[in-house]
Order: sequence, then structure tokens, then C-alpha cells
Amino acid sequence: MKQSWVAGAQAPDCDFPLANLPYGVFSTAERGPRCGMAIGDSVLDLSELAAEELLTGGDLGFDRPALNHFMTLGAETWAAVRARLTDLLAEGGDPALRENVALRDRALVPLDKAQMHLPVDLRGYTDFYAGRQHAFNSGSILRGPENALTPNWTHMPIGYNGRVSTVVVSGTPVRRPLGQLMSADGPKFGPSQRLDIEVEFGAIVALPTELGQTLTVAEAWEHLFGFVLLNDWSARDIQRWEGQPLGPFQSKAFATSISPWIVTRAALEPCRRPAPKRDNDLLPYLQEDADYFVDVKLEAHLKPEGAAKASRIVQTNTAHLYYSAPQLLAHHAVCGCRMQTGDLLGSGTISGPERQSFGCLMEQSWGGRDQIALEQGGSRIFLEDGDSVILTGWGEVDGQRIGFGGCEGRIAPAPKAVGKAF
Ligand code: MN
Repeated sequence: MKQSWVAGAQAPDCDFPLANLPYGVFSTAERGPRCGMAIGDSVLDLSELAAEELLTGGDLGFDRPALNHFMTLGAETWAAVRARLTDLLAEGGDPALRENVALRDRALVPLDKAQMHLPVDLRGYTDFYAGRQHAFNSGSILRGPENALTPNWTHMPIGYNGRVSTVVVSGTPVRRPLGQLMSADGPKFGPSQRLDIEVEFGAIVALPTELGQTLTVAEAWEHLFGFVLLNDWSARDIQRWEGQPLGPFQSKAFATSISPWIVTRAALEPCRRPAPKRDNDLLPYLQEDADYFVDVKLEAHLKPEGAAKASRIVQTNTAHLYYSAPQLLAHHAVCGCRMQTGDLLGSGTISGPERQSFGCLMEQSWGGRDQIALEQGGSRIFLEDGDSVILTGWGEVDGQRIGFGGCEGRIAPAPKAVGKAF
């Protein structure tokens, strides 16, 4: 197994070894946003490497504040750049960066000196409901286990169009939303009392489709660039009251957090897994010709305000999903919907069979009925102001972590009143 010479890249708990090479966008005190890659304890400034003509293939767009241009160049270019960067960063590889001290000082920025930004100029955000155990648990809480799954669920990925304007990068505070809450005395207005997380996996669309164009599942896989951690913050009380008949609206529109690093399909290639057993045959346009699921462990940790340590509250895995990312994209495009470079597709909450693997507090507390004990003391049913939630995720390749570097958000109090002054 090849290793990188960059400091920190060989540590066993490092999210960013040579086998990973995730893309992001960062800025420093000296210079505004540009494209970078996480390696060891550093961000590699890809615009510096391009300026030194260490990367070939024309304008890769790494001096831009988003990865969109690079994503439009397609899989051949992505593979060539990945191979070139692997060579520059590997022990015993091309010494052009390793032995150029001045360039190394410029191009390797310590992670703690890099301010991370959204990695792409996001164009659309669609959230699905592709986790079977989550759909079953949610349906059981609302309708009972006999009618938990709606009749369409095993035939198509269910989704809704979310608000791309409120997708934020890890570290952005999440303000508790105001909204309508149903009570025994009728609807009331105020801060959500049932603020929740959703542990999800996001897929980033790289290649666009024309209006009216469709994609097979295999083609859809080629259109995807990579994956991010995604926390689809949810106000369950607002959702419960507003959700009929058109589904979530305000209850999901106040914030969705994603990790700053996009882990590429190429890095997760060894983590590919076959589809789960199907209840029924899928219609031909959703059938798969290869393994499109991935094995990525996901965790959520909750850190109350002032607490010394976070408590792990969720341990789950992307392999629990029922529909793969290219199935979500193929289904999305099949009506002729134009898909754009920078579209984000959320998987939906990912839950496994045991309570510890349920990917949101609504499931873990079973609709708000049970207290969830925190490892470090205290308990929760839903989130309190000042709580931080940190998602982590990683695949494993030859004992190395193909990690995402975390996705964090802290709950800020709701506005005190409605109006611009607040
Ligand atoms: Mn969701």
C-alpha cells in the first residue's frame, strides 16, 4: 500500500491518507477561496500546483471558488488528475513538490489555518427517503407498523425538492426555526420544540443533462462526482402540521449542513457493495448492472454547550440504504428534469436495525416518547440551544480511513420576534 510523505497522512486515525484525496474549497488569511485537497494534516492548494504547471490537462479551474468547472471535465480528466496528484504526494513518487521547499511552504496549508467553504456552487438540492429502516420507523410512529411503508416505497425512490439556498458548510450555526406548531388549542406560532438531525449521505452531480434527456443507472453513476456527509436538520413539530398533503416545506428549509470535503467515487471504489435484497423487481429503468452501493460508516456525536466531550448518539452505515445514489439520479432525470452541475442529492435518513443505528432523534426517542441517554451524562429527546452535532464518516481501504473530515452545526436560539430587526 502506497503512503504519502505529507505530515499526518500515515496516522492510523487520519481521514485523509493517500488513498483518499478529497476535494474542497478553502481560503486563508492571505487569499480568498480556491480549490484544495485534504492530505494528512494539510490542505494542498491545487491552484498553486496548477500555477507551477505541475498539473496538465488545460484549465482545471482550481483557482476558482468552486469545483464546478473541474466537475464538468468528466471522468477521464478526474482520473488523470488523481493519478498525477497520487504520484506527487506518494513516498518515492515524483519529487517536484516534495523536494521544492518554497513550493511546499506555499502549497501545503495546515488544516487549522484553512477556512472551509461550500465545495461547489450548488444549483439544486433534492432530498430522498431511500433508507428502508427509517421509512419503516417513521411510518410506524405515524401510522403503525402494518401501514409503515406506503405502497409506492419499494418501487421508486421517494423525494422532494429542497432549498439549495440554505445548504451550508460544516461550522455554520443553525438557528432554531420559528413556525406553526399544532397544539390541542389549535395552531400556535413559536420556536420549534422538536428540533432534530437526519444522518444522510449526499451525492454531488457533476455532469449535466439536457431538458428531456434521461439516464440509465449506469450512466447516472458516471455523472456523479462524489459524496459528502449531510445533516438534514428537521423541525418535527412544524413538519407534522404542515406535511399533509405536499410533504416537508418550512420544517426542512432553514438549514442543511454538508461536509466541506467531497470524497470521490474513485476513492470509494474499493468500498462498493451489492444492492440489498429487493422486495419486488424494480422497473427496468431502475435496475442495476453493477454494485452501486458503498460501505461508509456514519456516526453522529452530540456535544451540549459547555460539555468537555461529545457523546456518540448514532452509528450507522450507508450500506443500509435501499436505493443507490445513481438510482436516485436516474429516477430524478427520467421525467426529463434537467440535472445541473452542482446538484446535491440527499439519501434520506440512514437507519440500521438497532436503536443505536437509527439516524435521527425522532426514531431514537420513538416519536418523542423516550429519553435518549448521552454517554457523557444527561439525556435528550430533541436538540437544545447550544447543542453541537458532529457527523463523521469513513470507508475503509487496506486499513486506511477514506474519511470525510466531519460535518458540524451548533444550535443557536430562535429569533425573539418576527421582523427585520430580529
Ligand atoms: Mn432528509
